[in-house]
Amino acid sequence: MKKVNANTCPEIGFAKSRNKKVDLNVNSYYLIKMNQMETKDDSSLDFIRTRIEEDIKANKNQGRVHTRFPPEPNGYLHIGHAKSICLNFSLAEEYNGKCNLRFDDTNPCKEEVEYVESIKKDVRWLGFDWEDREFYASDYFEKLYEYAVQLVKKGKAFVCDLSAVEIKDTRGTLTEPGTESPYRNRTIEENLDLFERMRKGEFKDGERVLRAKIDMSSPNLNMRDPVIYRILHASHHRSGDTWCIYPMYDFAHGLCDSIEGITHSICTLEFEDHRPLYDWFLEELDVFRSQQIEFARLNLSFTVMSKRKLLELVQSGYVKAWDDPRMPTLSGLKRRGYTPESIRDFCGRIGLAKRDSVVDIALLEFCLREDQNKRAPRRMAVLDPVEVIIDNYPEGQVEELESENNPEDESMGKRKVPFSRRLYIEREDFREDPPKKYFRLSPGREVRLKHAYYITCQNVIKDPNTGKVQKIHCTYDPKTKGGWAKDGRRVRGTLHWVSVPHARNAEIRLYDRLFNTKNPLDLKEGEDFKENLNPNSLKVLTSSKLEPGLSKAQPGDRFQFLRKGYFCVDPDSTQDRLVFNRSVPLRDTWAKILKKQKQK
Ligand code: ATP
Ligand code: MG
Repeated sequence: MKKVNANTCPEIGFAKSRNKKVDLNVNSYYLIKMNQMETKDDSSLDFIRTRIEEDIKANKNQGRVHTRFPPEPNGYLHIGHAKSICLNFSLAEEYNGKCNLRFDDTNPCKEEVEYVESIKKDVRWLGFDWEDREFYASDYFEKLYEYAVQLVKKGKAFVCDLSAVEIKDTRGTLTEPGTESPYRNRTIEENLDLFERMRKGEFKDGERVLRAKIDMSSPNLNMRDPVIYRILHASHHRSGDTWCIYPMYDFAHGLCDSIEGITHSICTLEFEDHRPLYDWFLEELDVFRSQQIEFARLNLSFTVMSKRKLLELVQSGYVKAWDDPRMPTLSGLKRRGYTPESIRDFCGRIGLAKRDSVVDIALLEFCLREDQNKRAPRRMAVLDPVEVIIDNYPEGQVEELESENNPEDESMGKRKVPFSRRLYIEREDFREDPPKKYFRLSPGREVRLKHAYYITCQNVIKDPNTGKVQKIHCTYDPKTKGGWAKDGRRVRGTLHWVSVPHARNAEIRLYDRLFNTKNPLDLKEGEDFKENLNPNSLKVLTSSKLEPGLSKAQPGDRFQFLRKGYFCVDPDSTQDRLVFNRSVPLRDTWAKILKKQKQK
């Protein structure tokens, strides 16, 4: 059976049109996953691996595979970058090659050391190692300058005095050719002199640029004498004030690839139209030919993926920081409780495509559940507590009840949880007037307390003013220890609980989608994407109760709180008060039932 990937899977329903975005939902993934489990053979390769294998077969570059991950240090990495990181590093691993980490630091105005450090931290956290191959485009500034001089000497580049606006205005359109610059035919000597003086700082920002001399009537706008150097009197985070001219991305990128001997330069689709220019520089300069290959960038529903937009959220205070657990940044996902394994799994499942798609954020959540279901120790925590008093349980008695740490993995062992006369249960686990199919506690109803006993609700005490339930009086059946009745009597509901005198306090942060709309950038004229932010994306519970063993938990530790989801200890925690982030809820079947009932 052929492995189905995002390219070939008809069930995903990729739109025929190139530019139309399509949805990839969880069901599609089950299908892909099922198919991927089938035998792997050569025909199962995606288009990038197919290409690489062809190159290896043809002994191109002596069969060498060398990739790179080239972030611009102008923000924190997000889950989209994770896709590129996983792809580049995995290809190197699979084909016995190498992958470089290269900072694309050609723009001194937007880049900062903080970002460089965060990027390195995040790539390492994801589990990848660039060994000693940490490079910077700025390392090559001298070399790139020499290449530019070489182009000038070949008559393939010229200094242009038009302003940025004039250059734009003379570029032409998709249907009309551009107009040649009046400076296009300067002599090589004059160009060399002016370019050198640009470097020396004799001109102001924007006064002159160096442009490639290609073809102003090319159907590809990128080939219409693009700018390759500009003047910027700005200090660079690495090269300081050595330079006041900086290479443009299109010029620098391919040449950096070439200098590093990158065989396969993998980038996102928007650079497809830039490939002829990428190739033009390499050919004109007669240097090592790296091969650019494009794939579709990852878009995730209910969030945005551009560093510029994410920075806007940070700067305007909509989120607390780059690592706010609602952010799609790797540092945000980590703080939220995502594991590197779950993110790598996600990147593997979505596959590679040649068409842009929007991946359902539910798939990312699914990957975390899959991962944590196997690994996260189970604990009991009551998020929104109400007190239960077991009237027939002896005052002052405490039993240490044995509880399994993970039913999926016996080797994780067992722990003791104290049980006493007074317990906390979730407020939502009691209803005075239970609707149909509500199997939790209600007057006269018997339920199971997990790992403990059957209890039956006898009566409730309410606040006389507000009517809010304050205490629930119950009785327990001592013959049901461990949560099973020897007489075979069954109950439908099982509740988690925490003993009142043993409980530890916690703050619990519950997160919802960052945006209210599936594609927050789908905007009407005049609308700002921030208008689509979900005002209820964070809910803080301050009086949650934990089983006592959790008091030893450290920031970054992850647990499954029974029936409530997967949680991770936040670094805001103090000695007296733990703070937990909910990484992802368990599937809430009750919400589904309620929804169905409403629909009827
Ligand atoms: P952003 O728009 O978020 O700023 P970018 O493309 O400008 O992204 P870079 O730092 O230039 O960010 O990206 C580094 C690498 O990561 C590039 O090779 C880029 O193609 C890739 N990349 C960026 N965003 C995505 C994405 N959403 N999906 C897949 N790859 C991505
Ligand atoms: Mg970029």
